[in-house]
Amino acid sequence: SVVTRFAPSPTGALHIGGARTALFNWLYARGRGGKFLLRIEDTDKSRSTDENKQAILDGLTWLGLDWDGEPTSQAENAPRHVEVALEMLANGHAYKCFSTQDEIEAFRENARAEKQSTLFQSPWRDVPEADHPDLPYVIRLKAPRTGKTTLHDEVQGDVTWSNDQLDDMILLRSDGTPVYMLAVVVDDHDMGVTHVIRGDDHLANSFRQNLIYEAMGWEKPVLAHIPLIFGPDGKKLSKRHGATGAAEYQQMGYPAAGMRNYLTRLGWSHGDDEFFSDEQAREWFDLSGIGKSPARFDFKKLANICGQHIAVTDDAALLQEVHEYLASVGEQALTDQQSDLLLRAMYCLKERAKTIPELLEKAHFSLVSRPLEIDEKAKAQLNDVSRGILSELTPQLQNASWTRDTLEGIVTSIAEAHDTKLGKLAGPLRAALAGRAVSPSVFDMMLVLGQEETIARLQDASD
Ligand code: GLU
Repeated sequence: SVVTRFAPSPTGALHIGGARTALFNWLYARGRGGKFLLRIEDTDKSRSTDENKQAILDGLTWLGLDWDGEPTSQAENAPRHVEVALEMLANGHAYKCFSTQDEIEAFRENARAEKQSTLFQSPWRDVPEADHPDLPYVIRLKAPRTGKTTLHDEVQGDVTWSNDQLDDMILLRSDGTPVYMLAVVVDDHDMGVTHVIRGDDHLANSFRQNLIYEAMGWEKPVLAHIPLIFGPDGKKLSKRHGATGAAEYQQMGYPAAGMRNYLTRLGWSHGDDEFFSDEQAREWFDLSGIGKSPARFDFKKLANICGQHIAVTDDAALLQEVHEYLASVGEQALTDQQSDLLLRAMYCLKERAKTIPELLEKAHFSLVSRPLEIDEKAKAQLNDVSRGILSELTPQLQNASWTRDTLEGIVTSIAEAHDTKLGKLAGPLRAALAGRAVSPSVFDMMLVLGQEETIARLQDASD
């Protein structure tokens, strides 16, 4: 069965590109009843931190990309990497190389002068053990020096490299520590990874890694190297274009479902489908739908898709997202009363909000309590004439049954009695109910707030 993995280096937070790589691996595994594993590639001790690791886990958790089992640490597997290097040494696929840095440099100088390849060719490759000196050495892989290697990649197709472009790579350094390239192969093998889906900046590494699989006689995983993400201008996505960290999108209040949908479409397609559910994504996702050319990050499209997800998310789930959002940005949690009203208001807030803060902005009227703070624009709506009309309205509302039709009837008849349009009355009403010039429709607000609160706010404003 399918096993995929995401193998981030904890040298920074979770980047949008990394999040998409993780998502593709997750979708591929989850859609096939497989496993999605997490491996923290923490061998670079000077640049790896626990904070970064935690930030990566938090980012994946926010995006809903759950992994199977405990995350593994590549650094902790070092003894196993050494063991494999020694096995290759024992079976003749690797050798001890005693060349010093100076000798390697001299080799290169000489090659440059003679206009030959500067890839180092160790003189120790075929020297028998009996003739080895008692000096420090590295262990190198014996790579083929002639011929070509073709690797099949599910995204890139057949990719061919000439073998003379690869030198005999170091497997173990002179201090006995394993190199990264070896660690990746050993870990992927030991974790039973069947599909390696990663950024195409790792394509060249596949040729070196392939040699290790061959030397060990291990089964090779299916490869899929996905093109990087570009900005709208066709250059590699960077801070210049906008936010590049997954956490920044969380803090801007993009809903995780919208983010997943958008990132799934970023470099992968299924006909013309732009907006889809998690179930559809899992069912549809395949490697053949991944494009060969870099996808461009489109901020407008992201917002648009997120808006569509907010519109279809059920109210209780949306309220939960609001709670999580507020916690993630360190804002005060809602009281039970605020939560209740917000939940009741949700139906009229969902429509055009693209982010949680946009939703909260529209929800303002349901979160504030009396006496309302009335902003300048709203204040301008409350003059003597309009306050007079509001004070006529309240007694009628006192006896009204609280339905949209009745409320519309009452407000319309008052407007007619004053020979004014309904729209003219909406301004003062909105000011009284929301304290702002922008809000959901006045009838929606009245229905959400209920009779008592509506009347009290109108009385406050007409006093
Ligand atoms: N640790 C590598 C990175 O963060 C990924 C290596 C791999 O997927 O094989 O770019």
